[in-house]
Amino acid sequence: MKKIILLILLGFTGIALLGCNSTREYVVEGENLASANLDDNYRTYYEIFVGAFSDSNEDGMGDLQGIINRLDYLNDGDPNNGKSLGIDGIWLMPIMESNSYHKYDVSDYKSIDTDYGTLEDFAALTAACEARGINVIIDLVLNHTSSAHSWFRAAKAAIRDGDLTNKYIDYYSIVTAAEKKSGHAYEQIYDSGYYYECNFSTSMPELNMDNPEVLAEIESIIAFWLNLGVSGFRLDAAKYVYLNDTTKNIAFWNWFMDECKAIKEDVYVVGEVWSGDASILPYYESFSNFDFGMSQNMGAIATTANSEDTVNFFVNYLCSYRRSVEAVNPNAILTPFISNHDMNRSAGYLSVTDGRMQMAANLYLLTYGTPFLYYGEEIGMKGVRFATSNTDANRRLAMLWGDKDPVMDPIGTSYDREDQTNGTVKDQLNDASSIYNHYKKVIMIRNANPEIARGTYTQLTFTGYSNFGGFLSTYEDSTVGVFHNTSENPITIDLSTYTEIDFSVIRGYAGKGAASLSGQTLTLDGLTSVVIR
Ligand code: CA
Ligand code: CA
Repeated sequence: MKKIILLILLGFTGIALLGCNSTREYVVEGENLASANLDDNYRTYYEIFVGAFSDSNEDGMGDLQGIINRLDYLNDGDPNNGKSLGIDGIWLMPIMESNSYHKYDVSDYKSIDTDYGTLEDFAALTAACEARGINVIIDLVLNHTSSAHSWFRAAKAAIRDGDLTNKYIDYYSIVTAAEKKSGHAYEQIYDSGYYYECNFSTSMPELNMDNPEVLAEIESIIAFWLNLGVSGFRLDAAKYVYLNDTTKNIAFWNWFMDECKAIKEDVYVVGEVWSGDASILPYYESFSNFDFGMSQNMGAIATTANSEDTVNFFVNYLCSYRRSVEAVNPNAILTPFISNHDMNRSAGYLSVTDGRMQMAANLYLLTYGTPFLYYGEEIGMKGVRFATSNTDANRRLAMLWGDKDPVMDPIGTSYDREDQTNGTVKDQLNDASSIYNHYKKVIMIRNANPEIARGTYTQLTFTGYSNFGGFLSTYEDSTVGVFHNTSENPITIDLSTYTEIDFSVIRGYAGKGAASLSGQTLTLDGLTSVVIR
């Protein structure tokens, strides 16, 4: 409700503010759409690797209190005032007790790792986020536990001691040599005749979801976290629960969603099914899924931003993928993103200096669904896993605050700080041309125009243009046009040739240049995007 009132207020005050506050010059002319119920799951999420984000107690390790300290940077309570990044969702990478630095192998599902703080800190974080209208989701790693989990240690000890009645043995996917499935990885338990399934690592034994006692544990874990104030979950390794068995996976995840919805009807869940689009699609029956086809250097966002593919290609990809998703689940929400903690950072293949990174942000933030930024992306942070070493930690480097935050890079990193050429948060906050201020601007335009995230899309095809394109989005009887120019030069185009919609207002533009509308003739500068209504 608070957001609705805010939008109504903005509707009345927007024009007055245009004159007195330079941060509003790109947004927002005309009244905002005030009737929309914006307290929904169409949000802009920000993925945080807690250990590398911000350190509150000077031990070099990022922690939950560090995130609380930085909330004003992310969203100061008014995502439209131009004073914070404006995200309204946070995905926390694993926070539960674990022996590894990345914590994707949990040893206690109802705890906070002591590196990160306490359950009280977590409650304080979710309360502070709720007060600012930020939803928090947490990484849930259910396919496997840590080999240090008490369940697995009990199972292993029982097998060693020949006590095959121990209930924890059946918590895991433990088989005899004859029962091993081809294509699955196993590890022998001592010198017994038994093996545990471990497709990721021998320190990550896989749970047995056919065991009702495991399902009861999961039910209890879901309730524990939802009752602590999380809005939902990011599901790690969703396709590995039953390796290579999509039908059984979806049955399991549908059960999981029923359990979540019994506690929280509007729970938000997004799955990691890192596959081609056709393999991701069936999982939309259960929940939203990251759109991996849009991500990384060869994905639709980067190739379009780098002019390797046309804007028409991007719009067509977006609209056709959305149609495929909605054929599986009419209520599904797309999840566009460029990169995450398992990928090389995007500023390595999208030039900030040339405006290509900014173009990529325009393409996926001015798009249907719930986009996810990876922390540091908004300041053009870099980091790659070198071919010579297994250094995913290089993709999870300490946030570059530039203000003496004691947070340190995770162990095992080999990325040279000299290669961080785009500057720190401190460098960028007051630089109007910084990549940070670009992200802030685009998110503001997105927030001020709910049609973009929520609307029904009409694909427009601009024949003969490779670097210009866009679409219409209609929501609550209001239609906006979103247009991109990925060339270096201005483009002038008579929109009435392509649509019967009468545009009258520029709602915002972002990029290297500006946009203007004369009648139905749009002029859009190079490497710039515009939203008009
Ligand atoms: Ca710390
Ligand atoms: Ca599994």
